[in-house]
Amino acid sequence: MTLHLKPGREKSLRRRHPWIFSGAVEKVTGKPAAGDTVEVRDASGKTLARAAYSPRSQIRARVWTFDAAEEVDAAFFRRRVSRAIALREALPASRHSNALRLVHGESDGLPGLVVDRYADVLVAQFLAAGVERWRDAILDALVECAGCTAIYERSDAETRKLEGLEARVGFARGDRAATRCPIIEYGLNFRVDVEQGQKTGFFLDQRENRRRIRELAAGREVLDGFSYTGGFAISALAGGATRVLALESSAEALAVARENLAANPLDASKVAFLQADVFAQLRKLRDQGASFDLVVLDPPKFAPTAAQAKNAARAYKDINLLAFKLLRPGGLLATFSCSGGVDAALFQSIVAGAALDAGADARIIERFGAAADHPVALEFPEGDYLKGLLVLKP
Ligand code: SAH
Repeated sequence: MTLHLKPGREKSLRRRHPWIFSGAVEKVTGKPAAGDTVEVRDASGKTLARAAYSPRSQIRARVWTFDAAEEVDAAFFRRRVSRAIALREALPASRHSNALRLVHGESDGLPGLVVDRYADVLVAQFLAAGVERWRDAILDALVECAGCTAIYERSDAETRKLEGLEARVGFARGDRAATRCPIIEYGLNFRVDVEQGQKTGFFLDQRENRRRIRELAAGREVLDGFSYTGGFAISALAGGATRVLALESSAEALAVARENLAANPLDASKVAFLQADVFAQLRKLRDQGASFDLVVLDPPKFAPTAAQAKNAARAYKDINLLAFKLLRPGGLLATFSCSGGVDAALFQSIVAGAALDAGADARIIERFGAAADHPVALEFPEGDYLKGLLVLKP
């Protein structure tokens, strides 16, 4: 089965970018089904790669290997999974947390596969036709290489629809009575609801940034917008924050946040978790004349793709402007964007515009990214989605 590219459309593949868009395809021969492996040939007939065919998606094929001689079989997935896990075992973070991302899709040579470890449970997402086709081989490789017997599947992300795949959730391997996993991150206890939680249950990409906020929080009054299960709020309290106000719209997330607070030997009376819409609540706080020494803004993906960037920019500007107004002199704003459609330069200019309109003469003193268990393959810049700025208001 072969996918033939249009003349000149092999350029991104030569730079080892793993996606082949439908517009680059001249024809497909041999009638591959969804997820089947196709040989990818340029217009001169030269084989460039082997890829997973996805007839329903705009991303018509995702490359498994640029080595035309490499077989795509169960052993291939075992090699890739084992390599990804070895990379994590070598990370310093693996000595400080038993929750890590083990497989990060394209950046680990496994397009469409996400696997997070929460203590002894793995949570897997199969988000493209290719990994769906090889699901059993991948699950076997995960059990073998990660030494976990329980794998919970959260193949319920919206992106599956783009591949023509139905949602699938539940234990794919093993079983456990509880789907709420206790994990430890830099000595702090968190509970991860792998069944009902957002994404795979926890935002592992923010691990090192939560730790940094913990270092910065001593003696400060902290506002944690978009708190989810209290990750930044509890880290700030552990770091010596004098008071923490955490805002979150989801009642389910707040219930876990309160459990997380209780699971740590901290003075819980210093933290208030408030179910609220951040946009409205920041206005209310401003009108009440409230102020803080450290504000964390970690909103959800406002712009999954560049097409939504304009509306997203308005939303980012709004909350950042209000945050600048709530900051006392000498205050810090840790502001994040996980939108693929808003790159680091655009995000910085949005935050700059917010500071200007708030009359804050602010400066960037640090930059944040995703933790090292979310590596970015150099040839796949799309993997670099999380960016953040630490801004000082003098
Ligand atoms: N900082 C968190 C992750 C935040 S994810 C951590 O470290 O774990 C973003 C969160 O924002 C989600 O929990 C989502 O429920 C919440 N959210 C989305 N829109 C919101 C809004 N308008 N107001 C308050 N919370 C919101």
